[in-house]
Amino acid sequence: MEKKKVKPESSIVRPESINDDTQDLALRPRSLLEFLGQKGMKENLSVFISAAKERGDSLDHLFLIGPAGLGKTTMAQVVANELGSGFIQTTAPALEKPKDLVGFLTNLKKGDVFFIDEIHSLKPAIEELLYIAMEDYGIDWVVGQGPMARTIRIAIKPFTLVGATTKAGVVSSPLISRFGITCRFSFYELEDLEAIVRRSASLLNVKIENDAASLLAKSSRGTPRVVNQLLKRMRDFAQYAGEPSITLSVVKTGLSRLEIDELGLEKQDREILKIIIERYKGGPVGAETLAISIGESVETLEDYYEPYLIQAGLLQRTPRGRVVTSFAYGHLGMPDIPRNEGSLF
Ligand code: ADP
Repeated sequence: MEKKKVKPESSIVRPESINDDTQDLALRPRSLLEFLGQKGMKENLSVFISAAKERGDSLDHLFLIGPAGLGKTTMAQVVANELGSGFIQTTAPALEKPKDLVGFLTNLKKGDVFFIDEIHSLKPAIEELLYIAMEDYGIDWVVGQGPMARTIRIAIKPFTLVGATTKAGVVSSPLISRFGITCRFSFYELEDLEAIVRRSASLLNVKIENDAASLLAKSSRGTPRVVNQLLKRMRDFAQYAGEPSITLSVVKTGLSRLEIDELGLEKQDREILKIIIERYKGGPVGAETLAISIGESVETLEDYYEPYLIQAGLLQRTPRGRVVTSFAYGHLGMPDIPRNEGSLF
């Protein structure tokens, strides 16, 4: 099965790439203490982890929901580290046949954390297998053929499934109901992003001034992966300019060269808003039509661009399609024209 593309090749920062270089690995927090932001989630997880450890049980299955780059994979690893358990990771599109899943499940050790990313795209036959594995720590396997076929139950070790998705809405309810713990990631607060920039800068051994860190935080779509990518690009610009540290002026110049504006929008974000305004009178316009107009897949539009445009108050998803807000007209410096009939604004 072809893996869904979430982020366009033309983009400068690539929030969907996993471990795209070794530095990214070095920046990944390893413990709940190092994991910055998402305070409420961390506090709850810390309770559940210590209670499970005290009882000697495996942690209940954990469902992580949120846009790309917010730390779902990182959190899954952190949970495994905090439990002192092994960490095994895969993605749903990589599980093509039931035997692919069985291979993982039968190799799990007691208490292991088994992470499945993009869990919304599991095939039905694989999802069915997972139900029994999650509930009864078993696998129902058919042996023999025709009238001789029979199902045998293979026992597997108690484990914790961590499922992550950017699209909770399309995950089936039988699967959702088998997760004992659900965590929803929200876009990060500025102070958390600033703390992430400072931590990453120190791990990368690069100096960054406070006002520069603060502007980087503001320009990073509320997303740790973006803030780390931008930090690395600013390090390049500083080095090129012969600056010993990343200053405010380096960041201002760097962001303008990357065509990232003061809200953290990339060129393609602005293009999306412009197209809705110019071609569809501000909306509503359907996701498929819009995706074709901007030359991206619907997945990329929905998983990468839209969550932040919505969060920033520039776009709304309505039952009839996407609609830009008055704030978007203002941000683009475009006159707020009368909307289509049926528009929300
Ligand atoms: P997701 O799985 O949600 O797409 P990742 O877990 O891959 O996101 O996170 C992307 C990168 O962002 C990680 O490599 C890590 O360096 C950084 N990161 C994510 N969350 C945090 C956090 N809370 N604190 C510090 N860095 C983070």
